[in-house]
Amino acid sequence: MQSVIEVSNLRKRYGSTLAVDDISLTVQPGEIFGILGPNGAGKSTLVETIVGLRQPDAGAVRVLGLDPQREHNRLVQRIGIQLQHAALPDRLAVWEALDLFASFYVRTTPWQPLLEAWGLAEKRNTLFANLSGGQKQRLFIALALVNDPEVVFLDELTTGLDPQARRATWDLVQRIRSQGKTVVLVTHFMDEAQFLCDRLAIIDAGRVIALDTPANLVRGLDGGSRVIFAANGATPLQALRALPGVSQVERSQGDVIVSGRGDTFVSDVVALLAASGSPFQNLRTEQADLEDVFMARTGRRLRD
Ligand code: ADP
Repeated sequence: MQSVIEVSNLRKRYGSTLAVDDISLTVQPGEIFGILGPNGAGKSTLVETIVGLRQPDAGAVRVLGLDPQREHNRLVQRIGIQLQHAALPDRLAVWEALDLFASFYVRTTPWQPLLEAWGLAEKRNTLFANLSGGQKQRLFIALALVNDPEVVFLDELTTGLDPQARRATWDLVQRIRSQGKTVVLVTHFMDEAQFLCDRLAIIDAGRVIALDTPANLVRGLDGGSRVIFAANGATPLQALRALPGVSQVERSQGDVIVSGRGDTFVSDVVALLAASGSPFQNLRTEQADLEDVFMARTGRRLRD
């Protein structure tokens, strides 16, 4: 099966900043492929280079077998792009935006059903400025789909949305894929990547530091977990660090987070706290997730 996207040894520099540093990856037909990483990691630059909006300094990109630079006009007919900093004129009505975008393409899908599918039918005459954040987001998705694209790029789709709107948007992303399209999802939210992506590349400082299914990435941590508690007194941090199975002890906003693995990891931590007489509250455990994968590879937290 031919890959939908092939990126090899891609480099992109802005002045002294190496935004994309030797990235190689492939995206397969019908998958939701995630590009996950902290702000400034190079995710947008990578995607903008993949779709031909930026010229790479080195390396090669093929999307649907096309060169995004030399065959840009053919490529844009077959892909849909919702980019992070998208904006529309405030006084453009929803239907006018769809009509405008449809005029860019040779092949389009009727936009009335598109409005209905994305819950915007009643907003067809509403001006862009008068839409809610969630409605704007859905309009941008509808606009990215107006040419019935084979590949859809979604960049930081849920930034600024409340939890309910985020979950609704996740459903929409799954609906896009269920129509047979390939989705590239750029996000700095690890829960979003974990929930939606079939495979994902974790990017840090312009490089791919991990690439696999979310389950395999977490499994690679060897079943690690965390014990978290609110410490309201002296905590024997050194003794915790010295326990077998403990990989990391850190403080975060009044909590102590102990990461580790092994059958007796949790009970060892609790026993040590009890034996040392150090007061703690609200003790809980969490299974390892993509945040831990990032931590294990970089020594830093993704969410900071
Ligand atoms: P992300 O999408 O992961 O937040 P970006 O691709 O936007 O990352 O940025 C990667 C790096 O390149 C950052 O250090 C950013 O400051 C820098 N950068 C991005 N765009 C430009 C630009 N147009 N000119 C100069 N530097 C840029």
